[in-house]
Amino acid sequence: MQSSCDLVIIGAGAAGLSAARAATQAGLSVELVEAMDRIGGRAYTDQASLPAPFDHGCQWLHSAGINPFTREADRLGFRYWTDPFVIRIHDGKWWLNDQIVEEYSAFMEATYDRIEEAAKAGDDRAASNFIDRTSPWAALFARNYCGYVAAAPEHSSTYDTGRFRNTHEDWPVENGYGALIAATHADVDVNLACPVKSVDWGGDEIMVGTSKGMIFCRAVLVTSSITTLREERIKFFPQLPAWKRDAIGRIEMGYAEKVAFWFKRDPFPGLGMHFAMLNWPDAPDAAFQVKPYGRPMATMFAGGHFARDLFAQGEEAAIAEAKTLLAKVFGPEILREIAGVKATQWVANPWIGGGYSVLAPGGGEARAELAQPIDGKIFFAGEATSRDAFSTAHGARQSGIDAVTAIANALRAV
Ligand SMILES: Cc1cc2nc3c(=O)[nH]c(=O)nc-3n(C[C@H](O)[C@H](O)[C@H](O)COP(=O)(O)OP(=O)(O)OC[C@H]3O[C@@H](n4cnc5c(N)ncnc54)[C@H](O)[C@@H]3O)c2cc1C
Repeated sequence: MQSSCDLVIIGAGAAGLSAARAATQAGLSVELVEAMDRIGGRAYTDQASLPAPFDHGCQWLHSAGINPFTREADRLGFRYWTDPFVIRIHDGKWWLNDQIVEEYSAFMEATYDRIEEAAKAGDDRAASNFIDRTSPWAALFARNYCGYVAAAPEHSSTYDTGRFRNTHEDWPVENGYGALIAATHADVDVNLACPVKSVDWGGDEIMVGTSKGMIFCRAVLVTSSITTLREERIKFFPQLPAWKRDAIGRIEMGYAEKVAFWFKRDPFPGLGMHFAMLNWPDAPDAAFQVKPYGRPMATMFAGGHFARDLFAQGEEAAIAEAKTLLAKVFGPEILREIAGVKATQWVANPWIGGGYSVLAPGGGEARAELAQPIDGKIFFAGEATSRDAFSTAHGARQSGIDAVTAIANALRAV
């Protein structure tokens, strides 16, 4: 293959798909290339492994009231649940009562408020500095934070919490968020199984080297994950400037993985969809989503380094650990009820390499710097570049659209 176009977009996740649509609408000729044999990237609904759709990646419409994918769900007839988050806390022996759960919720809100205030005051330090370590809830807060942010509070800047545009509407998509994103972009042309290996941007024309041949173009939009950038899995000639490499170095990859169990019958009669939090002294950074959408299911969510180290050992090891925790929390007899199980493999996926991005303490404006183009030729989008909706699918989408506005302006100016 040898071809030429105005714009090559690397990666057909939420950012790349939305960018391709916007660029075509802006009158640019576009080649969207994707390393995997499917679209969606971290937006992936597995329709085959269990009797119901299982989202390996994004599942919740975060900030749903202002999230354009909510409108797409309405348009396309996808169902989502608007119920408030319900939590239960297990102390290793039994469930804590509702009053104690409320105490924890109050502690959690106050701690998030302190982290946010620190960010607003320009205090770009680790979020862990704002947890009251004398509280009996400190460890559970850190565990929850890790589940949400994909990194321990020690490894994450206050700026992320302070800057995220949060309407506190987190609505899971019953038919699958990945399926929704795929359906939204069903009309976008994608060159699948076509990894980009190199981008030679030294001359007037840019040369993009892919496994299927060379593409000549005027601009490149890179949307691949922060791991792929940190590990330089795409070679740039000349190499990216120091300021860009420095920004990439101040954004870490967080880790988020799941193991979903399907049961022969409902092992949680009388209970609705909720999260079961683990709160014993050496509990891992994990929790269970119980009965999603009323289904006979429990999904273990693992976060941070616990998720990284466990899932790097492969699917079997992850499932074995999830079973141990399942039995500890719900009783060993639940293991006999398992009818199906599936684990995610984000950390081992060479085109992703983890969950979602995390601003390192002291990371400052790294996300905005990552979003900055180079010489009107190399542009960046993807969740890690979003200032106020990083780590999300709708943030990735918006970053793709914003990048195309900048690209169209740059190409028009030449
Ligand atoms: C477990 C988990 C749970 C999550 N939960 C939620 C949630 O509930 N709600 C939410 O909004 N978000 C959630 N997210 C985050 C959300 O899924 C991501 O932020 C979003 O999908 C990222 O989109 P993107 O386009 O930036 O990147 P990606 O989806 O990673 O897309 C980048 C694409 O680039 C491709 N690529 C990489 N290298 C190359 C190359 N060299 N050549 C060609 N192609 C390449 C990749 O294969 C990939 O398809 C979750 C993520 C995970 C992992």
